[in-house]
Amino acid sequence: MSSPTRVLVLNSGSSSVKYQLLDMRDSSRLAVGLVERIGEQTSRLKHTPAGGESRECGGAIADHDAALKAVAEELAKDGLGLDSPELAAIGHRVVHGGKTFTEPTVIDGAVLAEIERLIPVAPLHNPANLTGIRTAQVLRPDLPQVAVFDTAFHTTMPESAARYAIDVKTADEHRVRRYGFHGTSHAYVSRATAELLGKDPAETNVIVLHLGNGASASAVRGGRCVDTSMGLTPLEGLVMGTRSGDMDPAVIFHLMRVGGMSADEIDTLLNKKSGLIGLCGDNDMREIRRRVDEGDEQAELAFDIYIHRLKKYIGAYYAVLGRVDAVAFTAGVGENAAPVRAAALAGLEELGLAVDGERNAVRGDEARLISPDGARVAVAVVPTDEELEIATQTYALVIGSGNHT
Ligand code: AMP
Repeated sequence: MSSPTRVLVLNSGSSSVKYQLLDMRDSSRLAVGLVERIGEQTSRLKHTPAGGESRECGGAIADHDAALKAVAEELAKDGLGLDSPELAAIGHRVVHGGKTFTEPTVIDGAVLAEIERLIPVAPLHNPANLTGIRTAQVLRPDLPQVAVFDTAFHTTMPESAARYAIDVKTADEHRVRRYGFHGTSHAYVSRATAELLGKDPAETNVIVLHLGNGASASAVRGGRCVDTSMGLTPLEGLVMGTRSGDMDPAVIFHLMRVGGMSADEIDTLLNKKSGLIGLCGDNDMREIRRRVDEGDEQAELAFDIYIHRLKKYIGAYYAVLGRVDAVAFTAGVGENAAPVRAAALAGLEELGLAVDGERNAVRGDEARLISPDGARVAVAVVPTDEELEIATQTYALVIGSGNHT
Protein backbone atom coordinates (compact mmCIF):
# COMPACT_ATOMS: atom_id res chain seq x y z
CA MET A 1 0.00 0.00 0.00
CA SER A 2 1.29 3.48 -0.79
CA SER A 3 1.93 5.93 2.05
CA PRO A 4 -0.72 8.46 3.04
CA THR A 5 0.00 11.87 1.54
CA ARG A 6 -1.95 14.44 3.52
CA VAL A 7 -0.92 16.54 6.51
CA LEU A 8 -3.25 18.72 8.57
CA VAL A 9 -1.49 21.75 10.04
CA LEU A 10 -3.04 23.28 13.16
CA ASN A 11 -2.12 26.62 14.67
CA SER A 12 -4.12 26.92 17.89
CA GLY A 13 -4.29 30.28 19.63
CA SER A 14 -6.13 31.11 22.83
CA SER A 15 -9.39 31.89 21.01
CA SER A 16 -8.66 30.79 17.46
CA VAL A 17 -7.60 27.81 15.36
CA LYS A 18 -6.03 28.24 11.94
CA TYR A 19 -5.77 25.15 9.80
CA GLN A 20 -4.57 23.94 6.42
CA LEU A 21 -4.81 20.52 4.85
CA LEU A 22 -1.95 19.88 2.45
CA ASP A 23 -1.22 17.20 -0.12
CA MET A 24 2.50 16.54 0.23
CA ARG A 25 2.86 15.06 -3.26
CA ASP A 26 2.84 18.58 -4.68
CA SER A 27 2.60 20.73 -1.50
CA SER A 28 -0.84 21.91 -2.64
CA ARG A 29 -3.56 23.14 -0.28
CA LEU A 30 -6.67 20.95 -0.23
CA ALA A 31 -8.42 23.27 2.22
CA VAL A 32 -7.63 26.22 4.46
CA GLY A 33 -9.64 27.79 7.23
CA LEU A 34 -9.92 29.65 10.47
CA VAL A 35 -12.07 29.48 13.57
CA GLU A 36 -12.21 32.77 15.46
CA ARG A 37 -13.62 33.99 18.76
CA ILE A 38 -13.83 30.53 20.30
CA GLY A 39 -15.74 30.70 23.60
CA GLU A 40 -17.81 33.73 22.54
CA GLN A 41 -21.37 33.92 21.24
CA THR A 42 -20.10 35.32 17.95
CA SER A 43 -17.63 32.59 16.93
CA ARG A 44 -16.96 32.23 13.22
CA LEU A 45 -15.62 29.43 11.08
CA LYS A 46 -14.39 30.24 7.60
CA HIS A 47 -13.52 27.26 5.45
CA THR A 48 -12.17 27.35 1.90
CA PRO A 49 -11.68 24.15 -0.10
CA ALA A 50 -9.19 24.22 -2.99
CA GLY A 51 -10.87 25.58 -6.10
CA GLY A 52 -14.16 26.06 -4.26
CA GLU A 53 -16.19 28.80 -2.65
CA SER A 54 -15.52 29.82 0.97
CA ARG A 55 -18.14 28.78 3.49
CA GLU A 56 -18.78 30.64 6.74
CA CYS A 57 -20.71 29.48 9.76
CA GLY A 58 -21.46 31.62 12.78
CA GLY A 59 -22.88 30.98 16.23
CA ALA A 60 -21.29 29.98 19.48
CA ILE A 61 -18.36 27.57 19.38
CA ALA A 62 -17.77 26.84 23.05
CA ASP A 63 -14.20 25.52 23.12
CA HIS A 64 -11.34 24.06 21.07
CA ASP A 65 -12.97 20.65 21.13
CA ALA A 66 -16.11 22.03 19.46
CA ALA A 67 -13.96 24.08 17.08
CA LEU A 68 -11.99 21.09 15.86
CA LYS A 69 -15.13 19.01 15.49
CA ALA A 70 -16.65 21.78 13.37
CA VAL A 71 -13.48 21.86 11.25
CA ALA A 72 -13.64 18.07 10.82
CA GLU A 73 -17.27 18.36 9.66
CA GLU A 74 -16.39 21.01 7.09
CA LEU A 75 -13.49 18.93 5.79
CA ALA A 76 -15.78 15.87 5.58
CA LYS A 77 -18.25 17.82 3.39
CA ASP A 78 -15.44 18.13 0.83
CA GLY A 79 -14.54 14.45 1.08
CA LEU A 80 -11.44 15.36 3.12
CA GLY A 81 -12.56 13.97 6.48
CA LEU A 82 -10.04 13.45 9.28
CA ASP A 83 -10.92 9.74 9.27
CA SER A 84 -9.42 9.41 5.79
CA PRO A 85 -6.59 6.87 5.44
CA GLU A 86 -4.90 9.54 3.28
CA LEU A 87 -4.14 11.60 6.40
CA ALA A 88 -0.53 10.90 7.43
CA ALA A 89 -0.23 13.16 10.47
CA ILE A 90 -1.25 16.36 12.18
CA GLY A 91 1.45 19.02 12.52
CA HIS A 92 1.00 21.49 15.37
CA ARG A 93 2.64 24.88 15.64
CA VAL A 94 4.03 25.12 19.17
CA VAL A 95 5.45 28.50 20.11
CA HIS A 96 7.93 27.64 22.85
CA GLY A 97 10.17 24.57 22.89
CA GLY A 98 12.79 26.07 25.21
CA LYS A 99 16.26 24.55 24.95
CA THR A 100 14.77 21.07 24.90
CA PHE A 101 13.24 20.86 21.45
CA THR A 102 15.74 21.47 18.69
CA GLU A 103 13.71 19.65 16.02
CA PRO A 104 10.14 18.73 15.13
CA THR A 105 9.06 16.02 17.53
CA VAL A 106 6.42 13.29 17.52
CA ILE A 107 4.17 14.04 20.48
CA ASP A 108 3.88 11.57 23.34
CA GLY A 109 3.16 11.97 27.06
CA ALA A 110 6.70 13.12 27.87
CA VAL A 111 6.64 15.74 25.09
CA LEU A 112 3.30 17.07 26.33
CA ALA A 113 4.69 17.29 29.87
CA GLU A 114 7.73 19.24 28.66
CA ILE A 115 5.60 21.70 26.62
CA GLU A 116 3.57 22.18 29.80
CA ARG A 117 6.73 22.73 31.87
CA LEU A 118 7.62 25.56 29.50
CA ILE A 119 4.36 27.47 30.16
CA PRO A 120 6.08 29.95 32.55
CA VAL A 121 8.22 31.22 29.65
CA ALA A 122 5.29 31.25 27.18
CA PRO A 123 2.19 31.87 29.30
CA LEU A 124 0.05 33.14 26.42
CA HIS A 125 0.92 30.63 23.73
CA ASN A 126 1.87 27.19 25.05
CA PRO A 127 -1.42 26.57 26.91
CA ALA A 128 -3.40 27.22 23.72
CA ASN A 129 -1.05 25.02 21.69
CA LEU A 130 -1.46 22.25 24.26
CA THR A 131 -5.24 22.50 24.10
CA GLY A 132 -5.08 22.12 20.31
CA ILE A 133 -2.88 19.04 20.58
CA ARG A 134 -5.01 17.35 23.23
CA THR A 135 -8.18 18.00 21.27
CA ALA A 136 -6.68 16.59 18.08
CA GLN A 137 -5.45 13.54 19.98
CA VAL A 138 -8.99 12.79 21.13
CA LEU A 139 -10.27 13.13 17.56
CA ARG A 140 -7.62 10.86 16.02
CA PRO A 141 -5.82 8.96 18.81
CA ASP A 142 -4.16 6.62 16.33
CA LEU A 143 -2.58 9.33 14.19
CA PRO A 144 0.96 10.67 14.66
CA GLN A 145 0.86 14.23 15.99
CA VAL A 146 3.98 16.31 15.53
CA ALA A 147 5.02 19.48 17.34
CA VAL A 148 6.93 22.02 15.24
CA PHE A 149 8.45 24.66 17.50
CA ASP A 150 8.85 28.38 16.75
CA THR A 151 12.03 28.35 18.80
CA ALA A 152 13.69 25.24 17.31
CA PHE A 153 15.51 26.94 14.43
CA HIS A 154 17.19 29.29 16.89
CA THR A 155 18.60 26.60 19.18
CA THR A 156 21.78 26.65 17.06
CA MET A 157 22.61 30.14 18.36
CA PRO A 158 25.94 30.16 20.16
CA GLU A 159 25.91 30.92 23.89
CA SER A 160 27.47 34.31 23.13
CA ALA A 161 24.25 35.28 21.32
CA ALA A 162 21.76 33.31 23.42
CA ARG A 163 22.82 34.45 26.91
CA TYR A 164 21.92 37.72 28.53
CA ALA A 165 24.78 39.31 30.44
CA ILE A 166 23.18 38.75 33.83
CA ASP A 167 24.12 36.56 36.79
CA VAL A 168 24.42 33.05 35.38
CA LYS A 169 22.93 31.28 38.37
CA THR A 170 19.80 33.44 38.40
CA ALA A 171 19.44 33.13 34.63
CA ASP A 172 19.71 29.35 34.69
CA GLU A 173 17.41 28.94 37.67
CA HIS A 174 14.61 30.77 35.84
CA ARG A 175 15.53 29.64 32.28
CA VAL A 176 16.21 33.25 31.32
CA ARG A 177 17.96 33.31 27.93
CA ARG A 178 17.29 34.33 24.37
CA TYR A 179 15.15 31.73 22.59
CA GLY A 180 13.93 33.63 19.52
CA PHE A 181 10.62 33.08 17.69
CA HIS A 182 9.22 32.94 14.13
CA GLY A 183 11.79 30.15 13.67
CA THR A 184 9.67 28.21 11.18
CA SER A 185 9.52 31.29 8.97
CA HIS A 186 13.23 32.09 9.33
CA ALA A 187 14.09 28.48 8.42
CA TYR A 188 11.81 28.45 5.38
CA VAL A 189 12.81 31.88 4.10
CA SER A 190 16.57 31.42 4.55
CA ARG A 191 16.41 28.15 2.60
CA ALA A 192 14.10 29.58 -0.08
CA THR A 193 16.45 32.56 -0.48
CA ALA A 194 19.42 30.27 -1.11
CA GLU A 195 17.32 28.37 -3.65
CA LEU A 196 16.36 31.64 -5.36
CA LEU A 197 20.08 32.40 -5.70
CA GLY A 198 20.73 28.88 -7.02
CA LYS A 199 23.02 28.23 -4.03
CA ASP A 200 23.38 25.47 -1.49
CA PRO A 201 21.73 26.68 1.76
CA ALA A 202 24.67 25.15 3.67
CA GLU A 203 26.97 27.66 1.97
CA THR A 204 24.73 30.71 2.02
CA ASN A 205 24.63 33.50 4.62
CA VAL A 206 21.32 35.32 4.86
CA ILE A 207 19.87 38.12 6.97
CA VAL A 208 16.14 37.34 7.22
CA LEU A 209 13.79 40.20 8.08
CA HIS A 210 10.39 38.80 9.10
CA LEU A 211 8.30 41.97 9.23
CA GLY A 212 4.69 41.25 10.10
CA ASN A 213 2.61 42.62 12.93
CA GLY A 214 5.21 40.85 15.07
CA ALA A 215 8.69 41.32 13.60
CA SER A 216 12.07 39.70 13.98
CA ALA A 217 15.43 39.57 12.23
CA SER A 218 17.83 36.67 12.11
CA ALA A 219 21.39 36.05 11.00
CA VAL A 220 21.65 32.67 9.27
CA ARG A 221 25.06 31.22 8.47
CA GLY A 222 25.04 28.20 6.19
CA GLY A 223 21.45 27.31 7.06
CA ARG A 224 21.95 27.64 10.82
CA CYS A 225 20.71 30.52 12.93
CA VAL A 226 23.54 32.36 14.70
CA ASP A 227 21.53 35.27 16.10
CA THR A 228 17.96 36.52 16.20
CA SER A 229 16.32 39.64 17.52
CA MET A 230 13.56 38.21 19.73
CA GLY A 231 14.62 36.93 23.12
CA LEU A 232 13.10 35.27 26.18
CA THR A 233 9.77 36.46 24.77
CA PRO A 234 8.74 38.00 21.43
CA LEU A 235 9.06 41.49 22.97
CA GLU A 236 12.76 42.05 22.25
CA GLY A 237 14.25 43.43 19.06
CA LEU A 238 12.61 45.33 16.24
CA VAL A 239 9.84 47.92 16.55
CA MET A 240 6.63 45.95 15.88
CA GLY A 241 2.95 46.67 15.31
CA THR A 242 2.16 46.87 19.02
CA ARG A 243 5.43 45.86 20.77
CA SER A 244 8.25 48.20 21.72
CA GLY A 245 11.16 45.91 20.87
CA ASP A 246 14.49 46.88 22.46
CA MET A 247 14.68 49.47 25.20
CA ASP A 248 16.61 50.09 28.40
CA PRO A 249 15.16 47.60 30.93
CA ALA A 250 15.37 50.37 33.52
CA VAL A 251 12.36 51.97 31.81
CA ILE A 252 10.32 49.28 33.55
CA PHE A 253 11.65 50.11 37.03
CA HIS A 254 11.11 53.78 36.31
CA LEU A 255 7.49 53.20 35.31
CA MET A 256 6.99 51.12 38.45
CA ARG A 257 8.65 53.52 40.87
CA VAL A 258 7.78 56.87 39.35
CA GLY A 259 4.74 55.99 37.24
CA GLY A 260 3.16 53.72 39.89
CA MET A 261 2.41 51.08 37.28
CA SER A 262 2.16 47.36 38.06
CA ALA A 263 4.12 44.63 36.28
CA ASP A 264 0.96 43.56 34.45
CA GLU A 265 0.19 47.09 33.34
CA ILE A 266 3.70 47.53 31.96
CA ASP A 267 3.48 44.12 30.28
CA THR A 268 0.32 45.27 28.48
CA LEU A 269 1.87 48.65 27.68
CA LEU A 270 4.97 47.17 26.07
CA ASN A 271 3.29 44.25 24.27
CA LYS A 272 -0.02 45.76 23.19
CA LYS A 273 0.17 49.55 23.29
CA SER A 274 3.69 50.27 22.07
CA GLY A 275 5.56 49.94 18.79
CA LEU A 276 3.85 51.60 15.84
CA ILE A 277 0.46 51.80 17.53
CA GLY A 278 1.96 53.47 20.58
CA LEU A 279 3.95 55.90 18.47
CA CYS A 280 1.21 57.01 16.07
CA GLY A 281 -2.06 55.23 16.84
CA ASP A 282 -1.88 52.85 13.86
CA ASN A 283 -0.15 49.50 13.55
CA ASP A 284 -1.03 48.81 9.92
CA MET A 285 1.83 49.86 7.66
CA ARG A 286 -0.61 50.65 4.82
CA GLU A 287 -2.35 53.23 6.98
CA ILE A 288 0.96 54.64 8.26
CA ARG A 289 2.27 55.07 4.71
CA ARG A 290 -0.99 56.74 3.67
CA ARG A 291 -0.63 59.20 6.55
CA VAL A 292 3.06 59.81 5.74
CA ASP A 293 2.11 60.60 2.14
CA GLU A 294 -0.37 63.15 3.48
CA GLY A 295 2.38 64.82 5.52
CA ASP A 296 1.33 63.47 8.95
CA GLU A 297 4.36 64.14 11.18
CA GLN A 298 3.44 61.64 13.89
CA ALA A 299 3.16 58.82 11.35
CA GLU A 300 6.44 59.94 9.77
CA LEU A 301 8.26 59.81 13.11
CA ALA A 302 6.83 56.33 13.82
CA PHE A 303 8.01 55.17 10.38
CA ASP A 304 11.47 56.67 10.95
CA ILE A 305 11.85 54.97 14.35
CA TYR A 306 10.76 51.66 12.80
CA ILE A 307 13.30 52.01 9.98
CA HIS A 308 16.11 53.19 12.26
CA ARG A 309 15.81 50.06 14.42
CA LEU A 310 15.60 47.82 11.36
CA LYS A 311 18.71 49.37 9.86
CA LYS A 312 20.62 48.90 13.13
CA TYR A 313 19.83 45.18 13.09
CA ILE A 314 20.84 44.83 9.45
CA GLY A 315 24.18 46.42 10.30
CA ALA A 316 24.59 44.29 13.41
CA TYR A 317 23.87 41.05 11.60
CA TYR A 318 26.13 42.04 8.74
CA ALA A 319 28.90 42.29 11.34
CA VAL A 320 27.88 39.01 13.00
CA LEU A 321 27.96 37.14 9.68
CA GLY A 322 31.04 38.85 8.22
CA ARG A 323 30.00 37.83 4.72
CA VAL A 324 26.39 38.30 3.63
CA ASP A 325 25.02 36.70 0.47
CA ALA A 326 21.47 37.98 0.77
CA VAL A 327 19.03 40.08 2.74
CA ALA A 328 15.51 38.65 2.55
CA PHE A 329 12.30 40.52 3.37
CA THR A 330 9.24 38.51 4.35
CA ALA A 331 5.79 38.57 6.10
CA GLY A 332 3.01 41.15 5.70
CA VAL A 333 5.15 44.30 5.77
CA GLY A 334 8.31 42.76 4.31
CA GLU A 335 6.47 41.25 1.34
CA ASN A 336 4.24 44.21 0.58
CA ALA A 337 5.72 47.49 1.76
CA ALA A 338 8.22 48.65 -0.88
CA PRO A 339 8.92 51.94 0.99
CA VAL A 340 10.02 49.97 4.07
CA ARG A 341 12.44 47.87 2.01
CA ALA A 342 13.86 50.93 0.24
CA ALA A 343 14.26 52.95 3.44
CA ALA A 344 15.80 50.09 5.45
CA LEU A 345 18.64 49.70 2.96
CA ALA A 346 19.06 53.35 1.92
CA GLY A 347 22.62 54.56 2.27
CA LEU A 348 24.13 51.08 2.67
CA GLU A 349 25.74 50.95 -0.78
CA GLU A 350 29.18 50.79 0.84
CA LEU A 351 28.10 47.43 2.27
CA GLY A 352 27.12 46.21 -1.19
CA LEU A 353 23.45 46.64 -0.36
CA ALA A 354 21.10 48.38 -2.77
CA VAL A 355 17.50 48.22 -3.92
CA ASP A 356 16.50 48.69 -7.56
CA GLY A 357 13.53 51.09 -7.55
CA GLU A 358 11.66 49.44 -10.42
CA ARG A 359 12.12 45.90 -9.16
CA ASN A 360 11.13 46.95 -5.67
CA ALA A 361 7.86 48.43 -6.95
CA VAL A 362 6.76 45.19 -8.65
CA ARG A 363 4.17 43.28 -6.63
CA GLY A 364 3.86 39.52 -6.69
CA ASP A 365 3.48 36.28 -4.79
CA GLU A 366 6.73 34.72 -5.97
CA ALA A 367 10.19 34.96 -4.42
CA ARG A 368 12.06 37.65 -6.35
CA LEU A 369 15.23 39.72 -6.37
CA ILE A 370 14.96 43.48 -5.90
CA SER A 371 18.68 44.33 -5.95
CA PRO A 372 20.28 45.71 -9.12
CA ASP A 373 22.13 43.33 -11.47
CA GLY A 374 25.66 42.67 -10.30
CA ALA A 375 24.99 43.71 -6.70
CA ARG A 376 27.49 42.26 -4.20
CA VAL A 377 24.69 41.28 -1.82
CA ALA A 378 21.36 40.05 -3.18
CA VAL A 379 18.24 41.67 -1.78
CA ALA A 380 15.15 39.50 -2.07
CA VAL A 381 11.45 39.45 -1.28
CA VAL A 382 10.62 35.89 -0.23
CA PRO A 383 7.01 35.17 0.78
CA THR A 384 7.01 33.08 3.90
CA ASP A 385 4.96 29.89 4.21
CA GLU A 386 4.97 28.66 7.78
CA GLU A 387 2.17 26.14 7.19
CA LEU A 388 4.05 24.49 4.32
CA GLU A 389 7.19 24.38 6.44
CA ILE A 390 5.29 22.78 9.35
CA ALA A 391 3.70 20.26 6.97
CA THR A 392 7.04 19.50 5.30
CA GLN A 393 8.81 18.93 8.63
CA THR A 394 5.89 16.87 9.94
CA TYR A 395 5.72 14.70 6.84
CA ALA A 396 9.48 14.18 6.70
CA LEU A 397 9.43 12.98 10.31
CA VAL A 398 6.47 10.65 9.93
CA ILE A 399 6.85 9.31 6.40
CA GLY A 400 10.33 10.36 5.29
CA SER A 401 11.42 13.00 2.80
CA GLY A 402 9.87 11.28 -0.24
CA ASN A 403 9.58 13.34 -3.39
CA HIS A 404 8.01 16.46 -1.94
CA THR A 405 10.02 19.65 -1.71
P1 AMP B 1 1.54 39.47 9.20
O1 AMP B 1 1.68 39.55 10.69
O2 AMP B 1 2.70 38.85 8.52
O3 AMP B 1 0.21 38.91 8.75
O4 AMP B 1 1.55 40.99 8.68
C1 AMP B 1 0.46 41.87 8.96
C2 AMP B 1 0.89 43.29 8.66
O5 AMP B 1 1.34 43.40 7.31
C3 AMP B 1 -0.26 44.30 8.74
O6 AMP B 1 -0.42 44.76 10.06
C4 AMP B 1 0.20 45.40 7.82
O7 AMP B 1 0.94 46.34 8.58
C5 AMP B 1 1.17 44.74 6.88
N1 AMP B 1 0.69 44.75 5.49
C6 AMP B 1 -0.13 43.86 4.89
N2 AMP B 1 -0.34 44.22 3.60
C7 AMP B 1 0.37 45.35 3.38
C8 AMP B 1 0.57 46.21 2.27
N3 AMP B 1 0.00 45.97 1.09
N4 AMP B 1 1.38 47.28 2.44
C9 AMP B 1 1.97 47.52 3.62
N5 AMP B 1 1.82 46.75 4.70
C10 AMP B 1 1.04 45.68 4.60
